[in-house]
Amino acid sequence: MTDPKPSRPSENGRVNLMGLTPTQIAVYMSTLGEPAFRARQVSNWIYRHGVHDFHKMSNLKAEFREKLCDCAEVFIDEPQSRQTSPDGTRKLLFRNGDDLWEAVLMRDGERRTVCVSTQSGCGLGCRFCATATLGFKRNLTSGEIVGQILRAGELLPKGERITNLVFMGMGEPLQNYDVVKNVLEIVGADWGLDISHRRTTVSTVGLVPAIYRWIEDGIKAGLAISLVAADDELRSQLMPINQRFPLAELKKAAIALTEATGRRVTFEYILMENVNDTIAHAKKLVHFIDRIPCKINLIRFHPHPGSEYRRPSEERVNAFRDYLYPRCPAVTIRKSLGLDIDAACGQLAGRTKQGYAR
Ligand code: SF4
Repeated sequence: MTDPKPSRPSENGRVNLMGLTPTQIAVYMSTLGEPAFRARQVSNWIYRHGVHDFHKMSNLKAEFREKLCDCAEVFIDEPQSRQTSPDGTRKLLFRNGDDLWEAVLMRDGERRTVCVSTQSGCGLGCRFCATATLGFKRNLTSGEIVGQILRAGELLPKGERITNLVFMGMGEPLQNYDVVKNVLEIVGADWGLDISHRRTTVSTVGLVPAIYRWIEDGIKAGLAISLVAADDELRSQLMPINQRFPLAELKKAAIALTEATGRRVTFEYILMENVNDTIAHAKKLVHFIDRIPCKINLIRFHPHPGSEYRRPSEERVNAFRDYLYPRCPAVTIRKSLGLDIDAACGQLAGRTKQGYAR
């Protein structure tokens, strides 16, 4: 039986349906003596139509609606704070007890991208990342992750919808694998949020066994690998996970991923001045990607209080990019959005205008 409890248990004893797939809702329906097709009807209301009040689910029998009101609910966390950057980026901070997590909504041309967190804090200790300073609190539930997407979507004006989704907020998504897989099912389904898998990217620091599991499960969303350095010594200093899964293993997994999906893999490379942004580092990167069909996404380091690294100048970033291209045929420089509200990549640590919410 599919686990029907990926949502946080409700305080009033009701079962929270937010974050459940139709299969999981069907399991719950069977406990109420209802046929499985009700699950799809309810999922449609919750995710497609954004209706969370059972009384308003007009194609359900009145008696069944009453039954649902008695024993179930659709609960979405309310953000504790909302911040807006002059560039239009919005950051939402959620809190449950001591656990914090954040979501970011970015506008860029026609794109409306939501970046979600999959854990409260993170235990992987990447040296350049503000989230690492929180330590690991817990994995988020499916309902808490889907809730971030829905709350971010509510900020959009009428007629606009979320076009892209990235799992690059707090936490390492593949450490919360089962829940993330569940969320991806809800995200991509036509009874769900209906956001194309082609426009959904999950970012990992490179948990090699989980990458193979991803391949085996045939997950359609894109997987991006945060590389940051292409030699083991430096990468292990910056990202302790490299001591467990060194570059040679990561490379094999990346090649297997491209073979299985027929798609190029994206490597993210955060550039830090005089740490990993010289031409010698670019040469190592070119050597690493040999035989891997890939794209490289360069990100200028986003500073945060207490960090020991500096953001390189545009000239340094361009010189790095110019060495890579065309040795690597697809190189992009990511726009830094939401820098001033600590909403950019690597900055999420529960900071608001009033200070840290921890
Ligand atoms: S970069 Fe990702 S995996 Fe590394 S500490 Fe930050 S949130 Fe965790």
